[in-house]
Amino acid sequence: MRNPKWHRDEIILALDLYFYKDLGPMDAGNPKIIALSELLNRLPIFDYKPDKQTFRNPNGVTLKLSNFKALDPNYSGKGMEAYSKLDREVFEEFSSDLKRLHQIANEIKQAIDNPELSNQVSKIENDETSETDSVKEGQVLYKLHKVRERDRKIIEAKKKKVLKDKGELKCEACGFNFEKIYGKLGKGYVECHHLIPLSNFQVNKETKLEDLALLCSNCHRMIHKDLSISTIKEFKSKWNAM
Ligand SMILES: [Zn+2]
Ligand SMILES: [Zn+2]
Repeated sequence: MRNPKWHRDEIILALDLYFYKDLGPMDAGNPKIIALSELLNRLPIFDYKPDKQTFRNPNGVTLKLSNFKALDPNYSGKGMEAYSKLDREVFEEFSSDLKRLHQIANEIKQAIDNPELSNQVSKIENDETSETDSVKEGQVLYKLHKVRERDRKIIEAKKKKVLKDKGELKCEACGFNFEKIYGKLGKGYVECHHLIPLSNFQVNKETKLEDLALLCSNCHRMIHKDLSISTIKEFKSKWNAM
């Protein structure tokens, strides 16, 4: 059985290494390539790796880097033409914005290097793959977003504060109040959304109460379709405009 195709997050990490100034020789013996191979094997993306021996091994990583050579107009030699559509998309998206590429790659690495976080990320289910595929910052950071907004302690603190200030828990976007509609069943229920856009996401930054918005399940689902939105006002004006 063949291993799964490279995921967007993996391509981002490989591309970041490709543009690294002191990469050194592009071969399977290069310690930086070996390190990336190890990192890719620790990413909480694929539950199933049919061929563990070859999964993102240093040879595979080297091959991916030579795919980028074929895409790179600044490379004078000949790379490996067998790149995927996604390789090309990611290359075109980030080759002119290396700063952002490096920032995303760095956040992914920090999350994976933190054993507790990486464990939490791997527990987030893959049920919304169609959504995460469209998230530019990739699946790991998307899952981190979810980890953040499922932190019980901070959710409870947020709800407590809103109850004290406003006297009720309702969706900040549409006003839906679970208790009003569902009675006892809905008492105390509301979802928490983390407002920091993924592009500004910092793994080691603690979540503050004002980073969170209370939303009903529908609005929460919809706001996840565009995680570049950083205020509820912006979210509302987007759907009011429709
Ligand atoms: Zn709502
Ligand atoms: Zn959310």
